Amino acid sequence: MWDFSTDPGFQAELDWVAEFVREEVEPLDLLHPGNHEPYDRESEVFKETVRPLQQRVKERGLWAAHLAPELGGMGMGQVRLALLNEILGRSQWAPMVFGTQAPDSGNAEILAHYGNEEQRRLYLEPLLDGRIVSTYAMTEPTGGADPGGFSCRAVRDEDGWVINGEKWFASNYPHAAFVIAMVITDPDVAVHKGTSMFIIPRGTPGMEMVRGTGLFGEPLGEGVHGYLRFTDCRVPLENLLGEPGTAFAIAQTRLGGGRLHHAMRSVGVLKRAMEMMTERILSRTTRGGPLADQQSVRQSLAEVWIAVEQFRLQVLHAAWQVDRSRETKDPEHVRAARLHISAVKAATPGTLVDVVYKVMHLHGALGVSNELPLMRMWQMGPTLGIADGPTEAHKDVVAKLLLRDAVPAEDGLFGSEHLPTKVAAARAKLAAAAEKQKETS
Ligand SMILES: Cc1cc2nc3c(=O)[nH]c(=O)nc-3n(C[C@H](O)[C@H](O)[C@H](O)COP(=O)(O)OP(=O)(O)OC[C@H]3O[C@@H](n4cnc5c(N)ncnc54)[C@H](O)[C@@H]3O)c2cc1C
Repeated sequence: MWDFSTDPGFQAELDWVAEFVREEVEPLDLLHPGNHEPYDRESEVFKETVRPLQQRVKERGLWAAHLAPELGGMGMGQVRLALLNEILGRSQWAPMVFGTQAPDSGNAEILAHYGNEEQRRLYLEPLLDGRIVSTYAMTEPTGGADPGGFSCRAVRDEDGWVINGEKWFASNYPHAAFVIAMVITDPDVAVHKGTSMFIIPRGTPGMEMVRGTGLFGEPLGEGVHGYLRFTDCRVPLENLLGEPGTAFAIAQTRLGGGRLHHAMRSVGVLKRAMEMMTERILSRTTRGGPLADQQSVRQSLAEVWIAVEQFRLQVLHAAWQVDRSRETKDPEHVRAARLHISAVKAATPGTLVDVVYKVMHLHGALGVSNELPLMRMWQMGPTLGIADGPTEAHKDVVAKLLLRDAVPAEDGLFGSEHLPTKVAAARAKLAAAAEKQKETS
């Protein structure tokens, strides 16, 4: 059965979230727009304003909605999560207030899956409770999309592991209580089999931040993306997460969800941009009437709506694929979910760039100024085309999965849809049927 409706009970929750985000959370975006502030647990705004808001979300039963109930989450499934994230995506602070911010959401998932009891007590519990934030360090200055460029290395001795090397773009490191780092432990095998995951608490000697890199628009040297250096950094044996050599399998647990959640929140950004567009073209006048009277402007609005609607349905469908694969555990369904996540990931940057550009353009100088949030929204496009792997890598996954079931044509020269060949086959078939009919009559 196909059904695009939301059940009334859940819709009531979504209505509550929409009002709560608009009234209570969006003011934080205006007064504390920096990228640092949502992650700084020591700040006044966190202690005085965010903590009480988080408490209200917990009381409402909407805290950490991406996690299973046994981990203190709602276990609401990806389709419902997509509808919730559409609302949270409107605000930079909302994921923090609802306990679903990256990279903590993904780190919590891998600690829950692969952490032992002590690791869960030390790191997962305070993370889930929102008392600390964390970092995930996989990318290196010499290798991002291609892990073949990784060289950060851990060598084992009697007491533990000694790490040397560098990591790059470890988001939110300046405020993190610990780092989950992917490090080569066996350089003699392929990197996918010789890399392990370590938990490295803040303050561990030998781990330093060379600098914090920011995104465009942020002051140089003050960004939240840590360029990290490890120099004889000693980590005890018990800080290995999961088995040695399994870091890539562990990473898969966090990356799929994260990519989909970014796409869900992007729907919120797109809907907000579209609302700005309709308001603008009805309010701004040109040549004696509203901008909306111009045919090219109406065309642009229609294109925006179609693009947003297509993307939203693609995201919801991908979410449904993930829910189904988790329910059935059928390898076909798991594969379909992978395909859809990569497809959505590849579609996200282009949709953001195209739609927000159109909205920005119709706002004239105001649109590209620092008095509207549009440039910031637009910048999410190129950024999400890189974070969690570049678009090309995800298109490659899509193509490989599609080709896995495809077969080459029997007639390699003209292919199976060659009309003269098909017409000849149809003629032969009908002639044979007519012959048979004659014989029986
Ligand atoms: C905002 C943001 C937050 C991030 N947070 C984190 C984090 O918390 N932890 C972390 O570890 N990393 C993080 N990253 C890093 C991110 O995962 C990498 O930037 C990404 O994997 C790409 O690696 P790279 O930057 O080295 O680019 P490269 O690997 O050098 O790729 C550059 C370009 O080369 C092309 N290219 C690369 N591979 C292929 C291919 N196979 N086929 C065709 N073309 C290709 C693409 O055009 C690609 O955009 C973050 C990045 C951003 C932008």
